[in-house]
Amino acid sequence: MNLILLGPPGAGKGTQASRLVKERGMVQLSTGDMLRAAVAAGTPVGLAAKAVMDAGGLVSDEIVNGILSERLDQPDARAGFILDGYPRTDVQADALDAMLGDKGLQIDHVIELVVDEDALVDRITGRFTCGSCGEGYHDRYKLPKVADTCDVCGGHAFKRRADDNASTVRQRMAEYRAKTAPIIPHYQSRGIVARVDGMASMDAVAGSIDAILDA
Ligand code: AMP
Repeated sequence: MNLILLGPPGAGKGTQASRLVKERGMVQLSTGDMLRAAVAAGTPVGLAAKAVMDAGGLVSDEIVNGILSERLDQPDARAGFILDGYPRTDVQADALDAMLGDKGLQIDHVIELVVDEDALVDRITGRFTCGSCGEGYHDRYKLPKVADTCDVCGGHAFKRRADDNASTVRQRMAEYRAKTAPIIPHYQSRGIVARVDGMASMDAVAGSIDAILDA
């Protein structure tokens, strides 16, 4: 089974995708993670993407389509994948259709996480992750049980994304509204879109997603 998780930054796509990875053995394909890895490694893609990402804009379709297509060719993607943060434009949605057609794959569900944008700024600006295992935390909603120590792996180094500040978040939301939300009808016409209340608790969101996948 292959899914697309849609929703503005901070809607919970990454959280739900990591849960599905743990619980169902699916593969999370986050173009944001791929781009951040490229930036950290200083590759040509990373160098081209960094300034755009820091400003909360969208990296070019050409770059993002290229990295996603390569990633889809890895054998683990055949176990079922979750697209987290892709497609984000009409051009990407069309490119995805073409890529999947070539590879003999398809999207089974598109899950749109519906959220209140003002609340999201608060959610995003407080989030941080363990630098070793990637476990997610939040300044107000989920601090490590022992200060400065990851609950999962015991690591002591934590990191915050450079683009998780209020002004960049607003820009990322504007991009979502202008360029990403308009691709939803592309999938509605195939009858595969489900809307989930992303403001509900993490467990409730998980329950709604599971009900869709298991229907
Ligand atoms: P994310 O981790 O999904 O919030 O993405 C972080 C940033 O990476 C975005 O604000 C964009 O600058 C860039 N990015 C990630 N995925 C895409 C995409 N599919 N198309 C264009 N830019 C992307």
